[in-house]
Amino acid sequence: MSAVMPTYGRLPLEACKGEGAWLFDEQGNAYLDTFTGIAVCSLGHANPEIADVVASQARTLVHCSNFFHINSQEQLAEKLCQISGMDNVFFGNSGAEANECAIKIARMFASHKGISQPKIITTEHSFHGRTLATLSATGNPKVQKGFEPLVSGFVQVPYNDIAAVERLSNDPDIVAIMIEPVQGEGGVNVPADDYLNSIRALCDQNDWLLIADEIQTGIARTGQWFAYQHADITPDVVTSAKALGNGVPIGACLTHGKAAKLLQAGNHGSTYGGNPLSTSVAKKVLEIIERDGLVKQAEIQGAKLLQSLKARLLAHEKIKDIRGLGMMVGIELDQDCADLMKRGIDRGVLVNVTQGHVVRLLPALNMSDSQLDDLIDKICSLIEDYLAE
Ligand code: PLP
Repeated sequence: MSAVMPTYGRLPLEACKGEGAWLFDEQGNAYLDTFTGIAVCSLGHANPEIADVVASQARTLVHCSNFFHINSQEQLAEKLCQISGMDNVFFGNSGAEANECAIKIARMFASHKGISQPKIITTEHSFHGRTLATLSATGNPKVQKGFEPLVSGFVQVPYNDIAAVERLSNDPDIVAIMIEPVQGEGGVNVPADDYLNSIRALCDQNDWLLIADEIQTGIARTGQWFAYQHADITPDVVTSAKALGNGVPIGACLTHGKAAKLLQAGNHGSTYGGNPLSTSVAKKVLEIIERDGLVKQAEIQGAKLLQSLKARLLAHEKIKDIRGLGMMVGIELDQDCADLMKRGIDRGVLVNVTQGHVVRLLPALNMSDSQLDDLIDKICSLIEDYLAE
C-alpha cells in the first residue's frame, strides 16, 4: 500500500523522463504529451534553457524570504505588468494561492466600502482551486462535498449568460465577479465574443472588481499573453500560475487601478512566494515566449489544430462539438469517454478527459509543425478507433 494519501486516481504510467513534447516511462517507451502536466509545461518537458536557470540559480540563491529585496521578483513583476497592463503583483506558489489572494482583495475592497457580508459572483462549472475559499468559489459540487460549511459569500450564475449577471446588479452586497475567460476543467467552454466586454461593462456600472482567473488560459496558451486580451478589456485582478513556471511552482496575483492599492504591509504574505528560484525561472519563461514568438505561434498552431480536428472528426455522429482558443482545445463526445486516457497510454499519446466526456488538449506551445501533424493524427486515430468499437 502506498504511503501517499490516496487523493488522486492514478493512470497506469510512471513518467520518468521528459524531453520537449515527449514523456518517457522506465522502459523507455515514448508518449506524445498533449496534456503538459495540466497546461504547465508549455515550453516542453526538461526545457534545457529552463534547466540551466534552475541549476545556476540553485547554486546562487534558492530562497531568502520576503524580509529582503529580491531583484528577480522585481523584474518579473515589471515584465508581468508590461505584458498584462496591470500595475503590481503578489507572488505565491500555486493557482489556488493566487486566487486566494484575489478573493482577499475582493474582501478588502468590500471592507473599504463598508460592506460586511460581501458576495463574489462565480460561474457554474468553473474551477478555482482546492483550498477552502477557492473550492467554495468553484462551480462544481463534487469538489465541495464533505468540506461544508463552505466559505460564505459566493453566488453562482451559469457561464456565458450575461442576463444572469445583470439580474444581480441590484444586490448591494456584490463586490466582484471571478471568471475564467475560457473554462478549462469545465470542458473548454469558450464564451460568446462579447461576453467579457459585457461583464466588464457591468463591473464598471456596479463598481465591482473583475477578477480574471487566467491560471489555465494565461501565459500565451490561447494566442494572447492572457485570454482577456482577445476581448481588449482590462480586468482589475488577474491570476496566473501553471505555465508561468513551466513546472517550477509559482503563482501570481496581478492588480490594476483601485485593486492595486488594497493590500498593504501585513495584509498578506507567503514564505516561499516570489523567491529567487521561482522568479528567475518565470522571468526566463516569459523571455523565451517573447523571443520565440510563441504567443503568435499558439494562435497559428491552435487554429490549425482546431481546423484539422474539425475536418476529420466533426462529421462523426458521436462527436458533439470541437471548440477552443489557441492551443486549448476540447473535443466533446456524446458519451462518457474517461477511459480514453488509458487507451491513449497504450498507443503512446497522453490525453486528458474532463467532465467525463470532453477530451482536452493543452499541448506544448513550441512544438514543431511535424510534431503537431503527428499529434493531430494520433488524436484523430485514437478517437476514431475508440468510437468504431
Ligand atoms: N484556476 C484554474 C482555472 C485552474 O485550472 C486551476 C487548476 O487546474 C486552478 C485555479 C488551481 O490551480 P492549482 O492547482 O495550481 O492550485
